[in-house]
Amino acid sequence: MFMFNANTNVKVHWIGLTHTEMREQVSNLGQQHFRADQIYNWIYSKKINSFQSMANIPKSFRTTLSQTAGFHPLSLVKITGQDSSLTRKFLFELSTGEMIESVLMQEGNRTTACLSTQVGCAMDCDFCATAKMGFQKNLSVGEIVDQFLLLQQESVKKITNVVFMGMGEPFLNYERVIKAADLLNDPDGIDLGARRITISTVGIIPKIEQFTKESHRYKLAISLNGTTQDQRLQTMPIAKKYPLQMLMKAAKNYYETTKRFPTFEYVLMKNLNDEIADAENLIKLIGNLPCKVNVIPYNEIGGTYERPSQNRIKRFVNILHNAPFTVTIRWSKGTEIDAGCGQLAVNTGGVQL
Ligand code: SAH
Repeated sequence: MFMFNANTNVKVHWIGLTHTEMREQVSNLGQQHFRADQIYNWIYSKKINSFQSMANIPKSFRTTLSQTAGFHPLSLVKITGQDSSLTRKFLFELSTGEMIESVLMQEGNRTTACLSTQVGCAMDCDFCATAKMGFQKNLSVGEIVDQFLLLQQESVKKITNVVFMGMGEPFLNYERVIKAADLLNDPDGIDLGARRITISTVGIIPKIEQFTKESHRYKLAISLNGTTQDQRLQTMPIAKKYPLQMLMKAAKNYYETTKRFPTFEYVLMKNLNDEIADAENLIKLIGNLPCKVNVIPYNEIGGTYERPSQNRIKRFVNILHNAPFTVTIRWSKGTEIDAGCGQLAVNTGGVQL
């Protein structure tokens, strides 16, 4: 049997494999299916850390497993924030050397993991730090799910919610993100409720349509960040390819087909999209589409934009309170450790920030 070095040429990591894929791997190694069922349970339900902990698997097979495949596709490099902090940021290294970040947030009974889906991002939104890294690569299913498992290990409380709002554009890594969400959701494994998993997109219309057609139960969030095509274009180049009117149509169709409310995220930036007229335009734009609106006061990334004053934020939100949709303000957690929305960025592989 071919032996893989622990750090190089590892073809398979068990974390990230589906039940079916584990059965295939186990068959390839000359073992029966029930071994895959056991391994699946150890990894995703019991969340153990190595093949050696799989007590009901014969020692010889455990050794074969560890010689032929990797376990965690990620290694934890650094945690920023105290054990007791409500928000902590995690830096992980991929087996290919790139770095990504994830965030763990505690609020009341809710413990949320904010996961990355790509190394860097190609969308180039002007207000987002991840954009400054450029796009490096899509994460694998294992690299996405492992963020959850490693965060869970470091968390005293059980993670109750997952948001795909870390680095990257989830809908440009669609198949893997859905597969990762399915693994998080599987009642035989991690067992996180579908409505506790949110996928946030910059507005990739064909993928919103696919998501609608496939009728996934995960929550859909769309980053609006402006109320007119021109305003969106000022900060989000992708709006050129996927114009606002078509995006709103896709959101409407999502609601009409699935009867689920989309969430619109709106990063509030001083003097850019925080005027009274902007709030009024937002109400008009949404019309009678049942949805939620999540206002995110801009987090500093050292660029040209600024967070509006408390008064301007209040003024904007107060106008929205007259609208038929629900409005929430997301005061990003962890801005003091650059773990707020849009603040995730790592300098890897010689990429200049
Ligand atoms: N690419 C996806 C998910 C990642 S960003 C998307 O665009 O939705 C998650 C959220 O953070 C998005 O709504 C995005 O608009 C917002 N965001 C980005 N930069 C920000 C910043 N500097 N301050 C506050 N929110 C920001």
